[in-house]
Amino acid sequence: MENILVIGGGLMGTSATWKLVERGAKVTLIEKQAENYTNGSSYGTARISRSLGPKKDIFSYVHNKTVKEIIKLIAFLNTENPKQKHSIEEIYSTAPVSYLFSKNDYAEIDKFKFKKQKNDYRKASPNSAFRKFGMTIPENTLLVREMRQFSGTINPTELIKKLRLGIKQKGGQIKYNQEVISLEKKEDYFEVEILNTKTKKTRKLKAQKVVVAAGAYTVSILNQFAPYFNKVITPKKVVQSFLKITDTRFEQLTEEEQKAILNAQPFFSQIGKQYFSMIEKLEKDSSPIFKAGGHQMRRNIRNLDKVWTDAPRKKELKWIKKQFRKYFEMLEIYLTKKEIEVVESYNCVYTETRSKIPLVTNIFNKYGSLDTNIVVIGGMSGIGAKGCLAYGSIGADLLLGKKGKSKKMYRKAVKAFGNPSVNLYTKGVKRGRLF
Ligand SMILES: Cc1cc2nc3c(=O)[nH]c(=O)nc-3n(C[C@H](O)[C@H](O)[C@H](O)COP(=O)(O)OP(=O)(O)OC[C@H]3O[C@@H](n4cnc5c(N)ncnc54)[C@H](O)[C@@H]3O)c2cc1C
Repeated sequence: MENILVIGGGLMGTSATWKLVERGAKVTLIEKQAENYTNGSSYGTARISRSLGPKKDIFSYVHNKTVKEIIKLIAFLNTENPKQKHSIEEIYSTAPVSYLFSKNDYAEIDKFKFKKQKNDYRKASPNSAFRKFGMTIPENTLLVREMRQFSGTINPTELIKKLRLGIKQKGGQIKYNQEVISLEKKEDYFEVEILNTKTKKTRKLKAQKVVVAAGAYTVSILNQFAPYFNKVITPKKVVQSFLKITDTRFEQLTEEEQKAILNAQPFFSQIGKQYFSMIEKLEKDSSPIFKAGGHQMRRNIRNLDKVWTDAPRKKELKWIKKQFRKYFEMLEIYLTKKEIEVVESYNCVYTETRSKIPLVTNIFNKYGSLDTNIVVIGGMSGIGAKGCLAYGSIGADLLLGKKGKSKKMYRKAVKAFGNPSVNLYTKGVKRGRLF
């Protein structure tokens, strides 16, 4: 009998496994991909990490908690193997985070949000944006720039690598090329059927406790244990493009212009389709590679297995390129279409809940009783990475039972991420219909 099985080795499953083994639990992490991670939501080297929010904002909290947890992880790895010299800078690239708001939205948010903000941030109107940040912004918008250590970008690939190292050093097991094909509850244990994707052989494992963190596949894994979950979490596809300025054009930019570009990345517009861009790769003497997309450009998925290889829509790619050019115009750098090179574009996947609030919670079985031996971490949408170790900590605590007193913000986060499924289930199913 396995003690705890964690299904899914993306940011959430790996974070939860690390927090479980850190507390001495015997854990096996099951991942269907090979050791080389190529196609989950956590694929890639950059996600925006940001902590702007009001004083008691749960999303600022999860970011700050993740930073603290990563500092602890690095300290552990360096103590275990002092020669390796792991550093937090391999995971975070600190940079100012620029947000563009419409003036009306900002006024609404500011009433209850940033006024109480403790972080270092500055805001500028169209009249002051050039003086303050060297940017020309459209009428009726406001630019907010957050400047805080470890806000900027977080690197999922590096973080997963280090979490895996930590897990192994604490005695945890990680099994690659193992796909969970069914999960059933028997009297007092879970029976998990696993397909070895290389040999095509299947086997059944028994586990006392389970964490389901399989990203877009969470719903299909839960289809026997909690079939209502297809109404709780929905996978969406989001296109992203990797763009750069052609080398010839980049060489023509002055040093100040090149600096200004770096200072204004990551950039996150809160308007319309919510254009975002960040630096994916920085190389000396050549244009950085930017990752760009629109957070509101999400679409339903027909075939989850094919979505990674489906060609992105031309219209969406054109929109991203146009926003990319517009962004440079704000920096008074004018690029022709030909001066922008598309390195790569593909569909990425994430899952969302109806409320768009992530879920870290014990769940009800199909008969309506809450099972405290299973935890699901899902519905992370476009904000999961920056808080992954907070979600992992909460998941581990739910499964092991938290010891000692918890802080007020922690309790607030547990409630916020735990409420949706409980509420949805009790409100809907117990009244005889789903929602
Ligand atoms: C385009 C895009 C932009 C984003 N931008 C940001 C951002 O700027 N800031 C931010 O904080 N977050 C961002 N995110 C969100 C963040 O990347 C995700 O929330 C996070 O990576 C989700 O991790 P996960 O572990 O839940 O899912 P995944 O990374 O998908 O992990 C699930 C894992 O489960 C495995 N698996 C699936 N089925 C099985 C099975 N049957 N058996 C075994 N293993 C299985 C998969 O192979 C995968 O490795 C973005 C996401 C996307 C897609």
